[in-house]
Amino acid sequence: MTAALLPAHGVNGVNPAPAAPRTPLHVVKPSSGPDLAAAERAAAAFLIALGIDLDTESLAATPVRMARAYAEMFSPRPFDLTTFPNDAGYDELIIARSIPVQSVCEHHLLPFVGVAHVGYLPGERILGLSKLARVVELFARRPQVQERLTQQIADWLQDQIAPRGLGVVVEAEHLCMTVRGVRASGANTVTSALHGQLRSDTASRAEFFTLIGSHERPTPLLDERARL
Ligand SMILES: [Zn+2]
Repeated sequence: MTAALLPAHGVNGVNPAPAAPRTPLHVVKPSSGPDLAAAERAAAAFLIALGIDLDTESLAATPVRMARAYAEMFSPRPFDLTTFPNDAGYDELIIARSIPVQSVCEHHLLPFVGVAHVGYLPGERILGLSKLARVVELFARRPQVQERLTQQIADWLQDQIAPRGLGVVVEAEHLCMTVRGVRASGANTVTSALHGQLRSDTASRAEFFTLIGSHERPTPLLDERARL
């Protein structure tokens, strides 16, 4: 992950008075968690229905591992969203590139993995850089489709920090496309969501795609139905 650095001093070297700190937003609420015992029983029934013999030393605990693996894939780690006043008046793009994406296609419950590039033109508030990766994880760790994931990351950041412009690009390989169905091994799906100045201003948009390493607007959204 790389990111543009913020200048250490304010505009013309004058630092405005710091704004009052905001209470961090607890983004993932503690929950009772999944019912692992029920998931394990269901996983065992599922595998047996597929004709898989669980009476071997190697497979005996597979339902337990399956249940835990899916529980982990559907549980984003809690984090507090910390935003800071944009005291320096920084007005250029801030970009986090190649944030890992690990999600699960909700149509087949198979993983899709890749990277997300998130960039914004700050308004009055900026975000701790590591939080961009946490926001990606927040929406990835659930049954998803890539199009919705991309939009949810963008919409959520738009609501939280109200940037002047915002861009999210997700590139991912879907196991449901590579190991079954069309078996299009190596095919990448690219989705994008652009808000504000990154949507309306050609130069800003071009700069964003250049900085994330793509010189053109990504290919249009794939028709999700084509993958079923
Ligand atoms: Zn799928």
